[in-house]
Amino acid sequence: MTTGKINVSVENIFPLIKKFLYSDHEIFLRELVSNGTDATLKLKHLISIGEAKVEYGNPIIEVKVDKEGKKIHIIDQGLGMTADEVEKYINQVAFSGAEEFLDKYKDSAKDSGIIGHFGLGFYSAFMVAEKVEIITKSYKDEPAAHWTCDGSPEFTLEPADKTSRGTEIILHIAEDSLEFLDDSKIAGLLNKYNKFMPIPIKFGTRTETLPKPEDAPEDYVNETVETDNIINNPNPAWTKQPSELSDEDYKNFYRELYPMQFEEPLFNIHLNVDYPFNLTGILYFPKLGTDMQIQKDKIQLYQNQVYVTDNVEGIVPEFLTMLKGVIDSPDIPLNVSRSGLQADGAVKKISNYITRKVADKLKALFNENRADFEAKWNDIKIVLEYGMLSEEKFYEKAGAFVLYPTVDDTYFTLDELKEKLKENQTDKDGKLVILYAGNKDAQHSYIQAAKDKGYEVLLLDSPIISHLIQKIENDNKDLTFVRVDSDHIDNLIKKEENAISKLSEEEKATLKTSLEAYIPKAYSVQLEAMDSQAAPFIITQPEFMRRMKEMSQTGGGGMFGMGNMPEMYNLVVNTNSDLASSILNTEDKTHQEHLVKQALDLAKLSQNLLKGEALTAFVKRSFEMIK
Ligand code: ADP
Repeated sequence: MTTGKINVSVENIFPLIKKFLYSDHEIFLRELVSNGTDATLKLKHLISIGEAKVEYGNPIIEVKVDKEGKKIHIIDQGLGMTADEVEKYINQVAFSGAEEFLDKYKDSAKDSGIIGHFGLGFYSAFMVAEKVEIITKSYKDEPAAHWTCDGSPEFTLEPADKTSRGTEIILHIAEDSLEFLDDSKIAGLLNKYNKFMPIPIKFGTRTETLPKPEDAPEDYVNETVETDNIINNPNPAWTKQPSELSDEDYKNFYRELYPMQFEEPLFNIHLNVDYPFNLTGILYFPKLGTDMQIQKDKIQLYQNQVYVTDNVEGIVPEFLTMLKGVIDSPDIPLNVSRSGLQADGAVKKISNYITRKVADKLKALFNENRADFEAKWNDIKIVLEYGMLSEEKFYEKAGAFVLYPTVDDTYFTLDELKEKLKENQTDKDGKLVILYAGNKDAQHSYIQAAKDKGYEVLLLDSPIISHLIQKIENDNKDLTFVRVDSDHIDNLIKKEENAISKLSEEEKATLKTSLEAYIPKAYSVQLEAMDSQAAPFIITQPEFMRRMKEMSQTGGGGMFGMGNMPEMYNLVVNTNSDLASSILNTEDKTHQEHLVKQALDLAKLSQNLLKGEALTAFVKRSFEMIK
């Protein structure tokens, strides 16, 4: 037996390891199972190039919990190590690796900005163990070795009688980590980190009932067998070629990833690139609707099929964090902080690639089956609209597939819409006027009025829409967006002939004075000569003010403090209406007040502005009138 002292330059590395990443002790299992996987894959490689002349067989990795003995065993059938290799790889390479890692990060141990915490490797065992043993037998014809270390820099290394190839790691679990002796805890960790690792992982056994034979007698009792409980799927869908997978395979994999998710995804995007960086994965568009508050961080990041994190911020462009699925890339640096990640050139390339791939897929889906794309529009628009706002590269491509639905469910691309509006929706400067509603019910009377005039009205109801139309207007100087209930639409849309006013200038002045006597100050009264079919009183909101207010409420872009601005309204009175004449001509002041207030309330009612006490008073007054 040899004993020795691991060459320490740090006073004592083990207490440091323990203290380090206090919240992430659980990763020890991922690290050790990964080592077992690597050792198995290395052996496979050596056999394939004729370097190792042994049978590969069907190697698995086994994890065993010994509750009484307070031990966890991780056993692989990989290439194993000779005593010399243990000395070299565990005492020197792994140790200096861990030492370097700690040296670099001990000051930022509390910085949760380090993702993955990869690199600590074998020595992460000491986060949960007070003593670690390695019993290993190399594929080479050399005796097995037994290494023991109790958490001090001293270790022992002696021959062992293990005859089967591979490595067994035995963790003697420390008193403060006994929770890891719980079967369900370990099962949970294996399911989180190792669910898709490439070598089968056994944890316990399960009882399988054999099928009843054809010729079974009446009193036949089903036979059972104990089989290995393999907890992982070594060949997850993203490691295969898209050509090998059917729609059903993609859906099944979604279910495998999110067993608690019952809704099916709308479609998937298979990522597959090996130059200039390596990345595979499958992204899914879930049904989103207009809900912006969906849980983010549902895309899982893997490295060579080992789970790293579900926080992909910085790697996937922000707007795509609303998607689900898997990304696997060995080229994403994991020992850097989030800000470092964003500055990293390779990561930026990855993020751009994903954006481009998603845009291309959307374009293809649109071109292949437009009807289907339209049917899904409401569930995907929030991602696309957010993408147009936040990623210039995506915005540039979006014109090819982003849709603008009308209130009657006709879907236009922006180019199609422009073509359509050229006919009769331009303002006096020749700009196209895109009318839109934010809510079909609330703005019903305005939508109806616009439709009666033959105008197209879009339904744009995403919470971020005001930001987006602001951007579209900036980039398309030939158009302007106007909500149906804003500054009266006839002002904007060029009309060949304006209705001739029935009232003289003098009469108009008198009417205005009478109106202003009863109309609250919050309304700016405007007289318009419209055709007699138009409503006598219409409340509108200035487009610009409303939009700015909305933008400041939904964050970004908006003007500071706008959210607290009072609402501003116009009261447009149709001077050609019979009601306007009645108000003007009545001698009875009480009756005049009555007419104005009732008309104002009706206008408010159609804009959803009549509430509380005012609504109660209105209803009471209306009943009085009809009794
Ligand atoms: P890394 O895996 O990143 O190289 P580790 O500290 O986890 O760092 O391991 C150091 C080295 O020890 C490995 O590179 C490998 O040579 C050896 N090793 C660790 N675990 C095993 C194992 N289960 N079987 C064979 N060799 C192993």
